[in-house]
Amino acid sequence: MVDSGGPFDVVVLGGGSGGYACALRAAELGMRVALIERDTLGGTCLNRGCIPTKALLHAAEVAETARRAARFGVRASFEGVDMPAVHAYKDKVVSGTVKGLTGLLRAKGVTIVEGEGRLAGPTAVQVATPAGPVRCEGRHLVLATGSAPRSLPGLPVDGERVIFSDQALTLQRVPASVIVLGGGVIGVEFASIWRSFGAEVTIVEALPHLLPMEEPSSSRRLERAFRKRGIAFELGARVEGVKTTETGVTVTLAGGRTLAAELLLVAVGRAPCSAGLGLAEAGVRTERGFVEVDRYCRTSVPTISAVGDLIATPQLAHVGFAEGILVAERLGGLSPAPIDYDGVPRIAYCDPEVASVGLTSAQAAERGHQIMQVTYDLAGNPKSKILGTQGEVKVIAERGGRVLGIHMVGARVGELITEGQLIYNWEALPSEVAQLIHPHPTQSEAVGEAHLALAGKPLHVHG
Ligand code: NAD
Repeated sequence: MVDSGGPFDVVVLGGGSGGYACALRAAELGMRVALIERDTLGGTCLNRGCIPTKALLHAAEVAETARRAARFGVRASFEGVDMPAVHAYKDKVVSGTVKGLTGLLRAKGVTIVEGEGRLAGPTAVQVATPAGPVRCEGRHLVLATGSAPRSLPGLPVDGERVIFSDQALTLQRVPASVIVLGGGVIGVEFASIWRSFGAEVTIVEALPHLLPMEEPSSSRRLERAFRKRGIAFELGARVEGVKTTETGVTVTLAGGRTLAAELLLVAVGRAPCSAGLGLAEAGVRTERGFVEVDRYCRTSVPTISAVGDLIATPQLAHVGFAEGILVAERLGGLSPAPIDYDGVPRIAYCDPEVASVGLTSAQAAERGHQIMQVTYDLAGNPKSKILGTQGEVKVIAERGGRVLGIHMVGARVGELITEGQLIYNWEALPSEVAQLIHPHPTQSEAVGEAHLALAGKPLHVHG
């Protein structure tokens, strides 16, 4: 048995956003920490998710800028996309970030154990490392093994014609045509990338809207913008069958209509990576594969916590960070507050971006709030005009009370939602936000204008 360097105060299984944030914070609080990872540190977010996709989305934005240059009086031409060069740029961003993270963990004194771990009791993880088995003993264990793409029953993903986002990220060509199954976040982001790169794209979504969990007016704005960009979509559509052919793939929808394309991207959600961890043997309860936790991320075993995509909370890297920090602080004897998941900002980085925080109007009604709402059209915002973007900022507030939700569509609104986060989480009144002076000319003025209108003193608003 290889020496682990333990015993430890905390042993974290999984080095993605939730796991490494927990390891860093626990080390900062003076605990001895081991972090077990079988692959590359940084998990899905850094290696197969947030970071590489946002690099592709930025390349897509550059392509659109070149295409639209004449609109701003600049002579440029879009000549095409060199996918190997796009990947080289993306991979450099990823490898630099992984290197930075590895250095940071080492500098904070976290022991990194490379290999595949499995629970060996309430305070131990057995790790198969290249050098042989290692037993990591810890007073506390934190499970953070993340999630992986899932398919539909009877729809095999061959990685060639039918692919997951993992394969989409390394595709060495721009496909002529793609069908995207699932109009959630992954679906709309890849649809946006491929369209900007020149592909014909059709999204097939089972529910009545793209991004169906967002405020319906945001979904409708996105649908309008996608239609203008030539992205096709089938809403409320059920897939009856998928056939791969010599040249591509054919999808049959309920009713018998067929769609054909070179590729099918399956983006119908991600499932927790909980199989093979020895959870049941250790007494860790699960539900539909997710590890069950309370508001403090405690599992059914007192020494074991779980964070990130492995638990049934929003599958977002920043949620993983927050949960990892919460667990480290709890184990370190502090008294962290439980996370208000409604107050977590959500962003789809497609073109245009869709961002929100707090409640949708339907959720507000379900919870018995009497609401008032204002939609400020970006057409009235000079900076948005300069950028040539269309969209809106919608603010929902309790009648006579606090702001309950903020929903935005438009270029760069992902950066604007951070103000919405402060407004929502500090339970601000529209009149309080209306007092704050927003710098001119910025897109952030649209946030100020919406609150001015809600406070009864609209400025740049007709009617
Ligand atoms: P998702 O749950 O966001 O979207 C899946 C979509 O597929 C849903 O709209 C659903 O209605 C649809 N769907 C399900 N079954 C279908 C069927 N049979 N036919 C047609 N449509 C069907 O999942 P995702 O887009 O795969 O993303 C997985 C997770 O990763 C999500 O939790 C997401 O939030 C997260 N993620 C976040 C970001 C971001 O924050 N920018 C980016 C990528 C992924």
